Amino acid sequence: MELKEAGKRVLELRREIEEHNYNYYVMDNPVIGDAEYDRLMLELTALEQQFPDLLSEHSPTQRVGGKPKEGFTTVTHRVPMLSLANSFSEQELKDFDRRVRGALAGEEVNYVVELKIDGLAVSLFYENGLFQRGATRGDGETGEDITENLKTIRSLSLQLKEAVPVLEVRGEVYMSGEAFRRLNKSREAEDQPLFANPRNAAAGSLRQLDPRITSSRQLSAFIYAVGYYEGVSLSGHEEALRYLQDLGFPVSRYYRKFADIEEVLAYCRDWEARRFELPFAIDGLVIKVDSLEQQLKLGATAKSPRWSIAYKFPPEQAVTKVKDIIINV
Ligand code: NAD
Repeated sequence: MELKEAGKRVLELRREIEEHNYNYYVMDNPVIGDAEYDRLMLELTALEQQFPDLLSEHSPTQRVGGKPKEGFTTVTHRVPMLSLANSFSEQELKDFDRRVRGALAGEEVNYVVELKIDGLAVSLFYENGLFQRGATRGDGETGEDITENLKTIRSLSLQLKEAVPVLEVRGEVYMSGEAFRRLNKSREAEDQPLFANPRNAAAGSLRQLDPRITSSRQLSAFIYAVGYYEGVSLSGHEEALRYLQDLGFPVSRYYRKFADIEEVLAYCRDWEARRFELPFAIDGLVIKVDSLEQQLKLGATAKSPRWSIAYKFPPEQAVTKVKDIIINV
């Protein structure tokens, strides 16, 4: 492909992706499936790699999420809330392992592997163990203030078991398959539009200006990381997960630590086969370098940390019983 033709396609793809980002991140109402969206992003990424002159910091390949929705007060994240680099094959995971080990010049590396919950990323901020404020990821720098909405999720503690001076945690708010089916059933009975999948139902329910609506929607949450902290000393991600659990946060019990990428791959394969046994939707696994010192050394791009990667499952088509709509799960 010539530069001129590539330039035209790049602009087309950016326009199309921006529109899907708006529908997905701002309106919680995507018009295409995630796999189709990922294909557009891959095509754009490949063209920008092939023709570096076409790369722009405004490209959706370089940016996180979407702008905050109108009507919400905004919150600036003290530490940016980034996205994750994606991998779609075992080879890409092995390449990630090689990059990590190369950058760490032969240091011993351990990985923590977690389920990738298909929901909405949130940040919760505590002072002296008391919940102060919560926000969505938004565009990574600025999110929506959803403090009152988060207070309606019963599994999220408002008072921690320890009065940690300053603690910001991150996690995923999601809707279980059962709550999703129940919600769509009642919406169908009331002739209201149905949610396409649990992820969009969770995002639409959490980003409500009226917290009473959120409260009626049966949302759940898992906390999977510390964002910012003072007065605590942590050296590894697994240690952080255990600490979060001790503080009373809902932490998924399915995380595992491995020293070898082959073991990571086996764990990913295992969950790819068993994903539908879970009562909630996952769209892959997340692999994270365990040592916080090594995480700092590896750093991040504008969009995602270099010490972590998502392993995305291939799309599976499932037919819901509600009005026989086809959804990507
Ligand atoms: P992502 O969903 O691929 O990965 C990043 C997110 O994973 C984090 O922000 C966090 O919310 C989540 N996550 C879940 N479990 C986690 C864990 N254990 N540890 C860390 N993070 C965890 O990236 P993204 O930037 O949020 O979204 C991009 C994806 O969204 C696309 O690949 C596509 O699947 C979907 N999307 C779809 C459309 C559409 O129109 N269908 C549009 C935009 C985005």
